[in-house]
Amino acid sequence: MRTDDWTTPLAWNRVHRYRQRVLEVPRGLSAVPETSGSVLPRGFGHSYGDSCLNADNTLLDTRGLNRILSFDPETGVLHCEAGVTIGAVQRYATPYGWRLAVSPSTGLASVAGSVAHDVHGRNHIFAGSFGHHLLEIELMRSDGRRRLCGPGADDQLFRATVGGMGLTGLITTVKLQLRPVKSSFINVETHCHTDLSQLMAHIDATADTHEYATAWLDLVGRQTFRGVLEIGNEGPGERSFPQDRFQPRVPFDLPRLCVNRPHMHAFNLAYFRLCGRKKPGRVSYQKYLYQMDSLGDWNRLLGRKGFYQYHFLIPAAAVPDGLPRLLDAVRSSDNVAVLAILKRYGPSAAPGMMSFPVHGVGGAFDFVNRGERTLRLFHELDELMIELGGRVYLAKDSALDPGTFKLMYPQWTAFREFVDPRFSSSLWRRVTGEEP
Ligand SMILES: Cc1cc2nc3c(=O)[nH]c(=O)nc-3n(C[C@H](O)[C@H](O)[C@H](O)COP(=O)(O)OP(=O)(O)OC[C@H]3O[C@@H](n4cnc5c(N)ncnc54)[C@H](O)[C@@H]3O)c2cc1C
Repeated sequence: MRTDDWTTPLAWNRVHRYRQRVLEVPRGLSAVPETSGSVLPRGFGHSYGDSCLNADNTLLDTRGLNRILSFDPETGVLHCEAGVTIGAVQRYATPYGWRLAVSPSTGLASVAGSVAHDVHGRNHIFAGSFGHHLLEIELMRSDGRRRLCGPGADDQLFRATVGGMGLTGLITTVKLQLRPVKSSFINVETHCHTDLSQLMAHIDATADTHEYATAWLDLVGRQTFRGVLEIGNEGPGERSFPQDRFQPRVPFDLPRLCVNRPHMHAFNLAYFRLCGRKKPGRVSYQKYLYQMDSLGDWNRLLGRKGFYQYHFLIPAAAVPDGLPRLLDAVRSSDNVAVLAILKRYGPSAAPGMMSFPVHGVGGAFDFVNRGERTLRLFHELDELMIELGGRVYLAKDSALDPGTFKLMYPQWTAFREFVDPRFSSSLWRRVTGEEP
């Protein structure tokens, strides 16, 4: 179906309201559609920033490309169309004893969207990022050519497309290597900490023993530190046939004023106490990996004007000095971090030119959109990141300026050589300062 009307599809953070044309990509498309202006492929719009937006231009909606084309239960090789969701792959493969080696914390992202941001999960230290498990990508370029690329085949185009933010062409199909699993469950433990250095030492101590690790932080209280480390391993047990779970949805935008420091303080205290009482236990992979999907449209809880996420990564050598400085900057700011998560990143070489992960510690902090006030904090944090040699994740970004982007991703000039001349995005124009 083709529509020539302007609409305002949003990114997950709901900050930008841009007019865009949306073309649904039909199965069997033979060429990139002719449009005035540029095109950008789009999956489920689960990127937090403008990497999935193309203001005043066209989006190619790939959600209809939703078929699993083949699966070999002996080898775990799965071939699917671009718009198949992460959750659908998991539900399909789990009963055969296979799952994605790497998954973001949502099952509602598409496979191609996960390639395009080279997404990572809570197990980066064990499994690397999404691109490490790709065997082949089929890419449609605007010159009419279909290119098959993968590790060892058109290697440079492959490295540009993994983490390439949809700018190297339209991904039509993806071949993936899944990992074998014994069960549908993950064994999980939670540990409460009131000291950052102890929490970090605990994270380090689990690097060889626990595949999954994330830490929740309370950055609202200015005096006391509170953190909860959640660690886990794939569990033994039976393999079930996972079903689509009932998902209640947030029906309206919560007024922004509800998300204030006293409310968040009370919430965080209650959450910390609750975690202190949790016993180690077995949790279904869906509940563990996709906790955030259990409440549909939860982004509406953060108000009509949306929210910003600061998703950063500090290289390992700079963590002892840099992380406390970053947390202090957030805690002393007049912006409230409504959710703050830390993750560890392993030393594996990044599969994509523009991939985000490097060896170190990263985090994702959510802030209600308070306009300039929030952006001032982000620019302050950006300056610290530059000093520490860190970077911001482009899948979550809405605020980087061109100077900062070019310092964080100096490889952008090599990447630019692979950008298809008809493809562009709001993010790309913002961070490069270039028009298509
Ligand atoms: C609740 C939640 C939790 C998340 N957790 C994580 C996490 O743990 N780790 C992580 O890394 N990310 C995480 N993310 C981010 C998310 O996984 C990525 O932004 C992912 O790219 C979203 O996929 P999508 O299908 O919604 O793509 P979109 O957001 O629609 O697009 C993302 C990018 O993919 C490109 N793209 C989409 N389809 C194609 C195609 N067919 N061909 C070429 N390019 C294409 C787009 O052009 C765009 O640049 C999370 C997001 C949410 C909402």
